[in-house]
Amino acid sequence: MLMIGSHISSSKGYEAMGKQALKLGANTFAFFTRNPRGGSAKAVIADDVERYLALWREKGYGQIVAHAPYTLNACSDKEEVRRFAKEAFADDLSRMEYTPGNYYNFHPGSHVGQGVEIGIELIAQMLNECLKPEQTTVVLLETMAGKGSEIGRSFQELRMILDQVELSEKMGVCLDTCHVWDAGYDIVEDLDGVLEEFDRCLGLSRLKAIHINDSMNPRGSHKDRHARIGEGCIGLAAFERIINNPPLRGLPFILETPNDDEGWTKEIAMLREKSR
Ligand code: FE
Ligand code: FE
Ligand code: ZN
Repeated sequence: MLMIGSHISSSKGYEAMGKQALKLGANTFAFFTRNPRGGSAKAVIADDVERYLALWREKGYGQIVAHAPYTLNACSDKEEVRRFAKEAFADDLSRMEYTPGNYYNFHPGSHVGQGVEIGIELIAQMLNECLKPEQTTVVLLETMAGKGSEIGRSFQELRMILDQVELSEKMGVCLDTCHVWDAGYDIVEDLDGVLEEFDRCLGLSRLKAIHINDSMNPRGSHKDRHARIGEGCIGLAAFERIINNPPLRGLPFILETPNDDEGWTKEIAMLREKSR
């Protein structure tokens, strides 16, 4: 069965997220580990987590994909921003262990003019200070659109990060369809070619999750404006191929489309109908 869901508000805790996911017809979901544009985190309540875990076990559902806040930038040129990134990242990873074996996705960061090499070094530095051999969470680097000085605009840049991470067995990749399209990868006309390049550069076994978003802009635009599935430049036919592509079909698909609950319910149902 297609594993698909959307972003869900974490403000009411884990059990509420699980129930909300069921309401949308989802069997996976994403949530922000803390305020996405600020940084404060709510305490994890053990009972609440237990009820969520029981619900997920009862349904037989699999992994969920947590998302780090947008404000987390490990390769900022400002010391205090880098310090927040490290503290928030370490704290998120320790809280993720309440729900073992899931994914924690983050945007690698923006080097803000310091250059890609220094940026990558700083990102790897944070990862090397925060990853622990005993953690069960897999940390995902998200493929980025390449707007501004974003790192992760190519599979090669993600490879360069992984090459500098000591515990790289704790690392995977989350492919965002809007972002790779905006970065220039032709997932509409040449999905197999793009996946071959991913495999050559990163290894398909690193690919753990998909952010499934249409794009408001043409390929290579480096804009990062998400559209609803079938309402952007990628188009429904390409998404039908994406969800049914053998290396991708078992992965969790997360919608980050501009929608309300009703819209996500419809998108989830529509994609389920297209999945073979
Ligand atoms: Fe993201
Ligand atoms: Fe994304
Ligand atoms: Zn995006």
